[in-house]
Amino acid sequence: MTERAQIVKAYAGYYDLRWQNQTITCRARGNLSVKKGTHYQKNEIYTGDWVEFSLTQANQGVIESVEPRKNFLEDIRVANIDQVLLLLAIKNPDLSFRLLNEYLVLMRSVPDLPLLVGFNKIDLGLEPDIDLDQLQSDLKKINIPSLALSAKTKQNLEALEPYLVNKVTVISGPSGSGKSTLINDFFPNTLQNTQEVSEKIGRGKQTTRFSQLLINPSGISLIDTPGFSSVDLKISKKNWLSFFPELTELPGSCQFRDCLHLKEPRCKVKQAVNDLILPRWRYDYYVETYETLKEF
Ligand code: GDP
Ligand code: ZN
Repeated sequence: MTERAQIVKAYAGYYDLRWQNQTITCRARGNLSVKKGTHYQKNEIYTGDWVEFSLTQANQGVIESVEPRKNFLEDIRVANIDQVLLLLAIKNPDLSFRLLNEYLVLMRSVPDLPLLVGFNKIDLGLEPDIDLDQLQSDLKKINIPSLALSAKTKQNLEALEPYLVNKVTVISGPSGSGKSTLINDFFPNTLQNTQEVSEKIGRGKQTTRFSQLLINPSGISLIDTPGFSSVDLKISKKNWLSFFPELTELPGSCQFRDCLHLKEPRCKVKQAVNDLILPRWRYDYYVETYETLKEF
């Protein structure tokens, strides 16, 4: 008889499943093939995959089949994600507008994967040159929800919680932004769990980090991931503008019908930036990055 469960951790040919409040460590059936795009590939099973498995011993089993995936993030090898939470500190380290822009582009290139932005460390107080209300309102205009919070003092976590319940959320962001602290707020026993797993496979303390799915009783599932190595934008000049809905949806018209809103005269976009209708942090990134992209 087979059972159904979700992979919470995939590492070196082992797969941990969460099933009836226990962790089951599995291997994959030798001839198991998994559909990836239009191809079947042998033993490509990832954290977040839903599988059918057979129990062989109390805490061990064999994966018999893998269900089709809703989506898959190649970079971090995680499947079936509902949303990405980008956690940025407002300071220590400095708030990176570049990174924020890169994520906004990256997320538009993955279909149906909503982005939520957390501005962490608000307990430290804002730098005078950052207008967080304005920034949040800029994001809201492009349908990106955001929250100001403190993982350390737990300020505003109650506002974050409803966004996380009954969803699988990948937490991402630069080193030092507070991801581990936030995960610890929701999963105080995480470190202990990691230790248990290492002991079970008899390899002592692990040094490599794996993407791990954490599930708590209130239905919050977070993926603790080593993070996107880099946001590598494989986008050409030709379709760059399509990643900036607020530029294309601006009413009115430019002098040139095919205006790219770069150096062209009488451009409604540049006018809107000067009139503070469009945020400069978005437009400047659009222009600067355009120069670095390939033609096709
Ligand atoms: P990670 O690299 O993203 O996992 O970041 P950590 O969770 O390890 O946090 C980096 C440092 O920032 C640690 O010293 C944390 O204690 C601190 N930190 C995390 N969240 C907050 C916060 O909300 N406020 C303040 N003041 N410090 C924080
Ligand atoms: Zn224009």
